[in-house]
Amino acid sequence: MKILFVTNQKHETDTWVRLLQQALPEAEIINWHENLPATGAEMAVVWSPPKQLLENEPDLCALFNLGAGVDGILKLPGLHNGIAIYRIEDAGMSAQMAEYVVHALVRVSRSLGSYNKQQSISKWHKLPDITRSEWPVGVMGMGVMGARTAQAIAALDYPVAGWSTSPKNIDNVKSYVGQQQFNEFLTRTRVLVNLLPLTKNTANILNRANMARLLPDCHIINVGRGDHLVEEDLLEMLDQGHIGGATLDVFKQEPLPAEHPFWAHPKITVTPHISAANLFNETVAQIAKKVRDYIQNKNTYGDVQRGRGY
Ligand code: NAP
Repeated sequence: MKILFVTNQKHETDTWVRLLQQALPEAEIINWHENLPATGAEMAVVWSPPKQLLENEPDLCALFNLGAGVDGILKLPGLHNGIAIYRIEDAGMSAQMAEYVVHALVRVSRSLGSYNKQQSISKWHKLPDITRSEWPVGVMGMGVMGARTAQAIAALDYPVAGWSTSPKNIDNVKSYVGQQQFNEFLTRTRVLVNLLPLTKNTANILNRANMARLLPDCHIINVGRGDHLVEEDLLEMLDQGHIGGATLDVFKQEPLPAEHPFWAHPKITVTPHISAANLFNETVAQIAKKVRDYIQNKNTYGDVQRGRGY
């Protein structure tokens, strides 16, 4: 049994291949590259695979995504309905995501960025204390990542709501559903967290019209995908003052080019797509289970529904 390993993150390839081989000794894990003659493999573990993958490897019938978001797979040329797609669910990512978002939220709601600036000029000055009701948080996308994140925020007594396609029942998290409740969700939100998958319905959702509906002096935390955000709209709205700041972990172009205006913007915090990393051991254990379930024709979790795009 051959399983290809295909990634655009070349620096970690050796570790992934070694760990996958240990976890699946019954398989031959092949480190795939563009010049490799067709191997006849039926399965591949992938992250942002190159567009020639399915042309070079026409026997593939199951793709196991190395992360949560499958947007990099769904745009593959030649992807047909006979190819099953599975994604990683959580595997240690949701706790990281919750702590990243809580950190960004607390940094702004407790003025910690301002205190950093004060320290740089040795200034001892107490800013106003927090009033939690002034910091309603809205989480777009209430799946594995969004639900855990919203729960962590609710545990700190911030008013928090989630928005998704189906209703959710989570203690102290108000659920808003679908397009019909999107406006109501946005207009009660000051800190907007994006944890949506990238689909045709969610691309560019962080645009001027939607961000203008948020409460004044709002903050954007984008940890979904770079293509959710209309970058020019964010820059203009930061300059105009409706948006007070943004914490961005994902970008249209990664790595973010050195000349990009986000780097030096005083109201933007940039991190290099690290909010929730796919941890080696947890991810490999989950993929090994999914591979074995797939071979035995067992239902497994994390199967991607093509029609909805996630
Ligand atoms: P998930 O479990 O599939 O959850 C997706 C959520 O989005 C669901 O609640 C879904 O609603 C909702 N949704 C999808 N389309 C929608 C729409 N058009 N309108 C309203 N709600 C919609 O995915 P996940 O594991 O939480 O991951 C979410 C995303 O986070 C990933 O796709 C990826 O882009 C991003 N992510 C980023 C990092 C990072 O390091 N930056 C790490 C992990 C994940 P239903 O529940 O009703 O289906």
